[in-house]
Amino acid sequence: MLKKLFQSFRSPLRRAQHPRSTPEVLGNNQHSLRRGEISRNAVVVVERLQRAGYQAYLVGGCVRDLLLDLRPKDFDVATNATPEQVRAEFRNARVIGRRFKLAHVQFGREIIEVATFRANHPQGDEEENSNQSSRNESGRILRDNVYGSLEDDAQRRDFTINALYYDPSSERILDYAHGVHDIRNRLVRLIGIPEQRYQEDPVRMLRAARFAAKLGFEIEKHSAAPIRELAPMLREIPSARLFDEVLKLFLGGKAERTFELLVEYDLYAPLFPASAAALKRNPQYTGQLIRQALINTDERIRQGKPVTPAFLFAALLWPALPARAAQLQERGMAPIPAMQEAAHVLIMEQVQRTAIPKRFSIPIREIWDMQERLPRRSGKRADLLLENPRFRAGYDFLLLRESAGEETDGLGEWWTDYQDASDSQRRNMIRELSNKDDQPAGQRRRRGGSRRRRGPRTDGAPDTSGE
Ligand code: ATP
Ligand code: MG
Repeated sequence: MLKKLFQSFRSPLRRAQHPRSTPEVLGNNQHSLRRGEISRNAVVVVERLQRAGYQAYLVGGCVRDLLLDLRPKDFDVATNATPEQVRAEFRNARVIGRRFKLAHVQFGREIIEVATFRANHPQGDEEENSNQSSRNESGRILRDNVYGSLEDDAQRRDFTINALYYDPSSERILDYAHGVHDIRNRLVRLIGIPEQRYQEDPVRMLRAARFAAKLGFEIEKHSAAPIRELAPMLREIPSARLFDEVLKLFLGGKAERTFELLVEYDLYAPLFPASAAALKRNPQYTGQLIRQALINTDERIRQGKPVTPAFLFAALLWPALPARAAQLQERGMAPIPAMQEAAHVLIMEQVQRTAIPKRFSIPIREIWDMQERLPRRSGKRADLLLENPRFRAGYDFLLLRESAGEETDGLGEWWTDYQDASDSQRRNMIRELSNKDDQPAGQRRRRGGSRRRRGPRTDGAPDTSGE
C-alpha cells in the first residue's frame, strides 16, 4: 500500500493536477467566504433546489473571486437537477442553449445561470461509436453535453481555481483539485494533463492568459509549458467563439497585461495574424500604439465609461495597414484607394479568425476613413467633420496614433483647440490654415506657447497627415 502510494507520487503524471474523488471540505472557519457576500438571488436558487432534494452549489468564478476579495461578475450555480427540472422549480426560469442546455433564473436585471453537472466524454466512447465521435482527430471535444455527477463536473472544469463549490447553507467549500492551495499561491493550473486539456479545447490557453492577467496570477509551469507549441490549434476554433473570447480578453479591465501574456505565449498571432506580423516588423511603433489603446481601454473601464470593440479592433489592425497599402501602390493604385482597398482586405482576412459583426466592422472603417479626413479642414470641412457622429472616435484615434509617435504636424492639438474655440476663433483657425499652406513647413506658425513637438514619424507608420 505504502509502496503504491510512493509509486504514484513518483510517477510523471504526479505533475498533473488530478481531481480527487472525495473533496477537501473547508468549514466556514477555514475560508474567508461569507454567505452575506453572495447575491441573495443566487442563495435563493441554491436553497430552493436543495429543499426540492437536489444538490446545488455556487461554483466557478464567483467562489474564486470572493476568496480573492474581488467582486464577481456573476453568480453561477451547479446542480444535479436537469434544466427542465430547474425550470419546474422556478416560475422565472427558462431553458436556453443549443450545444448544451442551461437554465436561466431571472430576478429583475439579475440572471442566475444554473448549469447541470456535466462530465467529460470518456475517451473510449468513440471507438465503439465512431460516427458519433465526440472528439476530432486532434483530441478536440466537439460535444460535451453529457450530464454527470458532482465529481465529474469538478473534473471537466478547466482550472483548479475554477473548480470550487460553495454551499451557502453549510457555508462549506468543496475543493476537488487543490484550488484553494492554488489561490493562496496565486497559480493558474489546469486540472489533469495540460497537453490533453488544451487539445480538448484550445480556448483554455486563452483562458489561462486571461485569468493570469485578471487575477495577477502566474500560469503554473506545467500548465504554461505546452502553450507555445499548441497555440496554432486556435486556428481550428470557430471564428464566432474567438470573437467572444477576444472581447473577454480585452474588455475585462486588464487588457494591457493580457496582451503581454498573449504575445509571450505566442497566442496573439493565431488571433490577429496581420497585427502580429506588424508587431514583428515594427515593434516600437506597433507595440506602443496597441499598448496605449489597451491602457486607455483599461482606464475607461475603471472609470465606468463605455468602450467599443470597434475602436479596439481599429487600433489592433491599424499598424498592419501601411504595408498593405504600400503593396497596392506599388502595383499602381493611387494612395487613397490603396488605403481603402487595404482596409477592406485586412478586415476580410481578420473575420476568418475572429468574426467581426457588421455593427463593429462598419465603424472600424469609419474610424480609419476619418484619419484621411481629419487633416482636410478648409472651408466648411472642419465644421462638417465635427458634426459627424464618428468624429469623437476618429479624433481619439488620431491622438492614439500621435501617442505612438506618428508625426501629424500637430493635427491632434489643432482639433483639441478647435473644439474649444468660439465661432470667431474657429474662423481664424481655418483662415490661418490656408496661410500656413502657403509657407514652407519650417516657417509654419504655431498657435499658443505650450506646443510640444512630436517625435519624428516612425518608419512604417501610416502617413495620413498630408492635406
Ligand atoms: P469570469 O469571471 O470571467 O466569468 P468564470 O470562471 O466564471 O470567470 P466563465 O467563462 O464564466 O468563467 O465560466 C464559468 C465556469 O465554467 C468556469 O469557472 C469553469 O469552471 C467552467 N468553464 C468555462 N469554460 C471552460 C472551458 N473551456 N473548459 C472547461 N471549463 C470551463
Ligand atoms: Mg462567470
